[in-house]
Amino acid sequence: MAAVKNALIVGGGPAGLCAAAALAKRGIDVEIAEINTDTRPLGSGVSMMGPTLRALGMVDGEALKRCVDEGFGHHALSFGNPEGQIVQRVELPKPAGPEYPGGCGIMRPAFWGLLAEIAEKAGARIRLSTTASAIEPAADHVNVTLTDGSTAAYDLVVGADGLHSKVRDLAFPGATQPFFTGQTVWRVTLPRPDEISDGIAMFYGPRNKVGCSPVSDDEMYIFIVENTAEITRPPQEEWPAIVQGLLSDYSGVIAWVRERVTDPARIDRRPLHALLVPSPWYRGRVLLIGDAVHAATPQLAMGAGIAIEDAVVLGEVLESQADLGDALAEFMERRWERCRLVVENSLQLGEWEKHPDDPQADPAGLMDASLAVLAGAF
Ligand SMILES: Cc1cc2nc3c(=O)[nH]c(=O)nc-3n(C[C@H](O)[C@H](O)[C@H](O)COP(=O)(O)OP(=O)(O)OC[C@H]3O[C@@H](n4cnc5c(N)ncnc54)[C@H](O)[C@@H]3O)c2cc1C
Repeated sequence: MAAVKNALIVGGGPAGLCAAAALAKRGIDVEIAEINTDTRPLGSGVSMMGPTLRALGMVDGEALKRCVDEGFGHHALSFGNPEGQIVQRVELPKPAGPEYPGGCGIMRPAFWGLLAEIAEKAGARIRLSTTASAIEPAADHVNVTLTDGSTAAYDLVVGADGLHSKVRDLAFPGATQPFFTGQTVWRVTLPRPDEISDGIAMFYGPRNKVGCSPVSDDEMYIFIVENTAEITRPPQEEWPAIVQGLLSDYSGVIAWVRERVTDPARIDRRPLHALLVPSPWYRGRVLLIGDAVHAATPQLAMGAGIAIEDAVVLGEVLESQADLGDALAEFMERRWERCRLVVENSLQLGEWEKHPDDPQADPAGLMDASLAVLAGAF
């Protein structure tokens, strides 16, 4: 067991909450510093592939069961045309085990709430409305000052504070920064029609891609990937009309959807960014995990999955290695290739969405191949 008795995790998203659970279960005294007033974000649904479910089960088996019970099981990815006809179907592998589906959709507040529960159940303490203002490495510990004015020494500091990581800025000066990928995703929570029951169904139109992901018996969320050369910020009251316009090329189920997009409060809009910080993701006793080092666009729906896998591997290497440096080197060795694959293949899928006439474009093939690799052990 690496000599880590206490750890500070900055950021209470999937990476931070699961890392907290994985470390606290191994007897490490864990604090989470989360900048928001709550660990349950508003917003739409989230889709998880089989590897995400497997990683969640490795952190907490009960949480996996609850996630699948509270969400909606997925079995396949379907690919359709603007007329709403499904023309290709990719069966999802089931790395979480035959008793679990190959994927799952769930509302974000429910999923994040579940993760906060498992972190606290394992013994981690969550400090809200605070973040690190200074990180000062010393010989055998790291001194951290939080914005609430407190200072403490930690054996390990984990930056799990997402795309715009403060820990990255403080402890990794000059690190690679996220970049805008030229796409914006709109998500809308809507009633689920019976025909959206197999998993994520995606329809490729002349200007954009639209997908439907079921999250419960009653609800689904749709996502529209708009190609946007620059980041724009239209006023929220205009969002329903803009979304209706983006859906105007489609018939079938998406035409049914279009009529129901009326409430701006049910719409979420995010310009997409990506990031892959070169190895190593640690400096001394400070480690970055999750979106802070490998932010993938959502095309493979695996960003949260690789964040949770980071947490699993961090727990394992701290348990199996006697030396922290060896543990973090093993962490890096085990995490790089899978995270690179998710970030780069997601970007490739986005590029094909921007250039649908590319003769190489084969989204179903690349998703199938990527998920087959990711279903393997990590
Ligand atoms: C539009 C969109 C759709 C997506 N859909 C999916 C999907 O369907 N499936 C999927 O697997 N992934 C999806 N992703 C990606 C996924 O959301 C992320 O990869 C995942 O949330 C990363 O987890 P994380 O914990 O590393 O970071 P985050 O989820 O970003 O969590 C970071 C946490 O740190 C906190 N924080 C931020 N700054 C600070 C600070 N300075 N101090 C303290 N705390 C701080 C934040 O409040 C947050 O709680 C999507 C992403 C986007 C943009």
